Amino acid sequence: MFGLGNLAGIPGTVGAAPVQNIGAYGEEISSFIDHVECFDLDANKQVKLTKSECKFGYRKSIFQESDNLIIVSVGLSLSKKFEPKLDYQDLKDHSFTDEGELVETVRNIRNKKIPDPKDFPNLGSFFKNPIITKEEYEKNSKLHELKSYDSDNGEIKLSAGEMLDKLGLKGLQLKNIGLSNKHALILINCVYPNGICTAKDVKYAENYLLNKVSDSYGITLEREPIYL
Ligand SMILES: Cc1cc2nc3c(=O)[nH]c(=O)nc-3n(C[C@H](O)[C@H](O)[C@H](O)COP(=O)(O)OP(=O)(O)OC[C@H]3O[C@@H](n4cnc5c(N)ncnc54)[C@H](O)[C@@H]3O)c2cc1C
Repeated sequence: MFGLGNLAGIPGTVGAAPVQNIGAYGEEISSFIDHVECFDLDANKQVKLTKSECKFGYRKSIFQESDNLIIVSVGLSLSKKFEPKLDYQDLKDHSFTDEGELVETVRNIRNKKIPDPKDFPNLGSFFKNPIITKEEYEKNSKLHELKSYDSDNGEIKLSAGEMLDKLGLKGLQLKNIGLSNKHALILINCVYPNGICTAKDVKYAENYLLNKVSDSYGITLEREPIYL
């Protein structure tokens, strides 16, 4: 059964996948979710949420606001036909005869862009890609030098990585944390394995980057990982 190929290589468990509605290369897990079964700690019973009850959005779901729901199973609706979604720029020029080829290509692209956490501990993308209204985009001429993509509801999606890249921040080291040379959106522990990168370093880098992007583009980036 087909459909999940674009999501190949995203690390994590099935239970966590709906929490931030994992996505990559133009696809997200919510496109395939039929229902999610949870144990509700408040009601002390198992509940079954339909896809619409999960309130999925870009890297968003009801599970981020509901600590009482523990996901115990995820019902997926996959296709019996191989109809890959290849709108994403990196996949546009490829053609595939089966899902195995798609998975291999996605993994190869990811390996080129994302440093292996075993070599450089990292969290994947640190900021979400900003989504703004058409009016906000039209008014802000600084954004016109960036790539823009049509999103749902006529909104515009921008690339947080491109903003950091255009500001010359790729490879920058801030305290013990750095922006990967491969991909500016990925913050890596640059002192591994000999030094310690603390949560304070991460917070410092986050604030520094938020200010830089806000000053230059008038956009407030939103963090993707959660501080515990
Ligand atoms: C190198 C790298 C690359 C990445 N690339 C991507 C990417 O391309 N796209 C993307 O979307 N993400 C990406 N991520 C982020 C990560 O893969 C996802 O957030 C993934 O879902 C995390 O899974 P986990 O099992 O480690 O969850 P955790 O990080 O342990 O948990 C994430 C959250 O979900 C909650 N949770 C976990 N399991 C359950 C459950 N069963 N029930 C209820 N809540 C639960 C936790 O409490 C926590 O709040 C990347 C991360 C890394 C390190």
